[in-house]
Amino acid sequence: MSLVSGPGRGGGVATDQKLYVQKHVDYIKGLDTRKDELEYWLTEHLRLNGVYWGLTALHLLNQPEALPRDETIDFVLSCQQDNGGFGAAPGHDAHMLYTVSAVQILVMVDGLDELEKRGRGGKEKVGSFIAGLQDRETGTFKGDEWGETDTRFLYGALLALSLLGLLDRVDVPKAVSYVQQCANLDGAYGVRPGAESHAGQVLTCVAALAIAGRLDLVDKDRLGSWLSERQLENGGLNGRPEKLEDACYSWWTAASLAMIGRLHWINGDKLTAFVLRCQDPEAGGIADRPGHMVDVYHTVFSIAGLSLLGYNGLKEVDPVYCMPKDIISKHLAKQ
Ligand SMILES: [Zn+2]
Repeated sequence: MSLVSGPGRGGGVATDQKLYVQKHVDYIKGLDTRKDELEYWLTEHLRLNGVYWGLTALHLLNQPEALPRDETIDFVLSCQQDNGGFGAAPGHDAHMLYTVSAVQILVMVDGLDELEKRGRGGKEKVGSFIAGLQDRETGTFKGDEWGETDTRFLYGALLALSLLGLLDRVDVPKAVSYVQQCANLDGAYGVRPGAESHAGQVLTCVAALAIAGRLDLVDKDRLGSWLSERQLENGGLNGRPEKLEDACYSWWTAASLAMIGRLHWINGDKLTAFVLRCQDPEAGGIADRPGHMVDVYHTVFSIAGLSLLGYNGLKEVDPVYCMPKDIISKHLAKQ
């Protein structure tokens, strides 16, 4: 490892015990300038999600202006389809996950007005695309008109609609009762009723209940125990029993604990040290575990996890929306 010093952070800290802020900022900015590389095109199906992940990380690293606002808005709007939803990239079919990312990005750059002015449909149209994906029988949501249902889509739908001020377009009580059916005896949640508990699904279910104002339905002690058992000896968290640790669970697991007021049930110092070991100190970016290839997905969720743990110098993240807390509070207060 080299002895790279980050901005404003020197002072006798071990190389692997600091966050390489500027390296991560440069890594994220560089993702957009590598259009001639094969990897860029191979990941086209993730483009709009990638912008959300990169932009969120930059905000939490206190460098929100590192991605140009106007180009960001132009790109988001270029992904919108006639049905109001957004695809991964221009010309791709609309899907719930990209639509949610689009709304999150537009809120982060304060660009919802541009959607009204220049989009293929303003927020009402986006809201009706999302609402159209709810299964009115069961309350859950599909990802697109052909797809399967998944609590990720249910969470995404409630998240985006709440940011748009359009939660009343869907049957929230029915969505809540669907989430309750996904709860298991261990207090955690699966992808659909009867499915194995998984920390990623726990986050989607608990955050959906938080948006619906129904966290009272969560068995917080039982779920808190299951989540805190996800921490391994090396400090990292796994997604379910018997699995390896992975830096992205610093988000899925820790944010779930934060939402139910049990974040102190894991060892934050050990988790922080694990995440810092997953960094690439030379080229920036964070990997799923130490020594692995970095990617923007693990970069943002690791940084968001550190933010939850109160890492010095990072902006505070909102555990429900995975966006900067100050932006969310201001935005929701306006509605
Ligand atoms: Zn991962």
